[in-house]
Amino acid sequence: MSPRKRPAPGPAAASETPRRRPAARPGSAAAMEELLRAAIDVRDRAHAPYSRFPVGAAVRAGGRIYAGCNVENASFPLCVCAERNAVAAAIAGGARRIDAVAVVAGSANAGPPCGGCRQVLAEFCDADTPVLYASARGDRVETTLGELLPHAFGGGNLD
Ligand SMILES: [Zn+2]
Repeated sequence: MSPRKRPAPGPAAASETPRRRPAARPGSAAAMEELLRAAIDVRDRAHAPYSRFPVGAAVRAGGRIYAGCNVENASFPLCVCAERNAVAAAIAGGARRIDAVAVVAGSANAGPPCGGCRQVLAEFCDADTPVLYASARGDRVETTLGELLPHAFGGGNLD
C-alpha cells in the first residue's frame, strides 16, 4: 500500500473559488464582533444542567463561522467544552485552519478557554490567531492563542 499523496495546491486552485465580496479580515474589529455575537447566540443552547455554567464559542474558518456550546453529561467526564464543539463543527464542515476564536463564559468575569481546549485550538490555529473571550456582562479580553498556550505541543514535535 503506497502512501497517499496530496496534490500540491497551485495558483489555479487558489483562484477557483472567487468570493462574491471581500470578507472582513478575520481579526478585524468588525469580524471579531460578528464572531462574538455567534458565541453569545449559541451559548443560549448550551446543555449545562450540572454546572449551570453555559459557554458559547465560535470559530472563523475559511470565511465561515462555526459555533458550539458546552454539552454536559450525567457522566461528568463525558462533558465537552464549547470550544471543542465549535472546532469539531468547523472540521466537519471541511475547514482545516481556524482564523479567529471567540468564547463567552461566565456572568461576571470573562473565562478563558481551558487548557485542554487551548491544545485542541493549537492543532488548527497559529500562535497569532486572535482569541477573544468575554463574560455575559460584557467584560472581554483580546489575546492570541500563542499568549494563551506558549510553547504549544504540535505535530512538529512528533518527528
Ligand atoms: Zn475547554
